[in-house]
Amino acid sequence: MVERRSWAEPFRIKVVEPIHMTTREERVRAIEEAGYNTFLLRADDVYIDLLTDSGTSAMSDRQWASMMIGDEAYAGSHSFYRLVDAVQEVYGYEELVPTHQGRGAEHILSQILISPGDVVPGNMYFTTTRFHQEYAGGRFVDVIVEEAHDPADLHPFKGNIDLAKLQAVIDEHGAEKVPYVSFETNVNMAGGQPASMANLKATYELCRANDILVMLDATRALENAYFIQQREAGFEDRSIGSILREICSYSDGATVSSKKDNLVNIGGFLALRDPELARRARALLVAFEGLQTYGGMAGRDMEALATGIREMVATDDHIRARIGQVEYLGDLLIKADVPVVRPIGGHGVFLDAAAIVPHVPQDRFPAQALTAALYVDAGVRGMERGVVSAGRDPATGDHKYPKLELVRLTIPRRVYTQAHMDVVAESVIAVHEQRDRIEGLRFTYEPEDLRFFQARFEPIPA
Ligand SMILES: *Cc1c(COP(=O)(O)O)cnc(C)c1O
Repeated sequence: MVERRSWAEPFRIKVVEPIHMTTREERVRAIEEAGYNTFLLRADDVYIDLLTDSGTSAMSDRQWASMMIGDEAYAGSHSFYRLVDAVQEVYGYEELVPTHQGRGAEHILSQILISPGDVVPGNMYFTTTRFHQEYAGGRFVDVIVEEAHDPADLHPFKGNIDLAKLQAVIDEHGAEKVPYVSFETNVNMAGGQPASMANLKATYELCRANDILVMLDATRALENAYFIQQREAGFEDRSIGSILREICSYSDGATVSSKKDNLVNIGGFLALRDPELARRARALLVAFEGLQTYGGMAGRDMEALATGIREMVATDDHIRARIGQVEYLGDLLIKADVPVVRPIGGHGVFLDAAAIVPHVPQDRFPAQALTAALYVDAGVRGMERGVVSAGRDPATGDHKYPKLELVRLTIPRRVYTQAHMDVVAESVIAVHEQRDRIEGLRFTYEPEDLRFFQARFEPIPA
C-alpha cells in the first residue's frame, strides 16, 4: 500500500517573503563575524530560521484584516471587548487583564499573590516565570515528574506534576506558605512535553483540598490539548477546543504569552476567575503596563489577537499540522539515527549534542559548536541549550554542567513548508555524517549574565 501523508499545510500562500540564499563561503564568513553565536547573526544571512517560535508566527488574512479595524481609543476600545469575548469563549476565564507579552502577566500575577518567604511549586522552571516569582520574594520548587529529566524516556506525559513531590512541599512548608501552584502546559524547557488531563485534574483537587490556587502558564495549552487528544484514553473524539476549555477548568487563572499558540507577533494576558483578584491585578496594570482596556497592546494588536485565538481552535487542522510538522522533522531524524530528545515535543526538535559530538568535551561547548556547524552547512539557524546557556555557578565560578547538552530547532507556526523541513533534515543528517570534523570552541568574550545571548567564540584546532 502507498504510504500517505495524511496532511499538508491547511492553508495556501497569498503573500510571500523572499528569503536570501547564501553561499557556503558567505556563511563561513558570517558565523566567524558572529563569533560562532547564532544570536549574533543577521537574520538576512539565515535561510531557515529555527531560533525561536516566539512572535515568529505568520498571521492569516483575517488577522491582517483585523489590524485595519483595530480601535485605538485610549479607554474602552471595542478591540478590547472582542478580546474579552474570545478569551471567555475559548479559555473560559471571566476576567481579562491584557499585557504587552507573557512576562508582563507573570509580573502582575506574582506581585498580587506572592509574599516574601512563600514557595511556589511548579513543573520545571521557565526563565521569566521563575524570575518574577523570585522577584516578588518567593522561591520556586520543581515538582515535575522525574521522567522529564531523561531525554530518552518515552513517557507520554513528561510535563506531569509529581503529586507526591507536591504533597511533600505542602507538608514541609504548610499550605499557607504556598500561594499557588504554577502549572505550565506543554513544558517548554522539557522540550515541549505535555501534562495529562488526569494529572491536571488531580493537581487541582489536591490544591483545592489545601486552599491553594492553581495558576496555569497556558502559553502552550493548545499544543498540550493536542497531545491529550492523541494520547489520553477518552479524548480521541473530543475537539481541541473542548479539551482546551477542560484544561483551563482545572485552574483559577492563567498567564499567556500570545506570541506562541495565539498566532500573533506580540501580546499576552493574565486571565482570572475571581473578580477581587482581577481588581488587584488591574490596580498594578495601570502602573506597569497601561490602562485596563489595553494593558500593553495597541488596539490593532488586540484585534488581531482576538482573531488568532478563535482561529487556533476553529478546526483541529491547524494544530494537527503545526505539531505534525514538528513530528515530521523529528521522524526524519529518528529514521536517520540522529540522536534527538524523545518523544518529539510540540514546538521543536532538540538534537542531543552530547551524543552527536562525544569527542568534544563539555567545557568546549559541543552544542554551541554543533549549532554553528549546522548554520554553515545550509543556513539553518538553531540555538544552543547546554552549558553556555546554563552559565556559571556564582559561588565557585565554574561552569554549571547541565545533564542535557542540546541544539534546539524551533519551528515557527505557519511560516515554513514541509519542503523546508526536508532541507533541514538533510542538512542535519549531512552534518551528523561528518560529525568527526566538528571542533570545540573557546570564549573570546564572555558576558557575566545570560551569556548565551552575546558571547563570542573561536574554534580550538584539534
Ligand atoms: C515565551 C514564554 C513565556 C514568556 O513570554 P514572553 O511573551 O516572551 O514574555 C512564558 N512561558 C512560556 C512557557 C513561554 O514559552
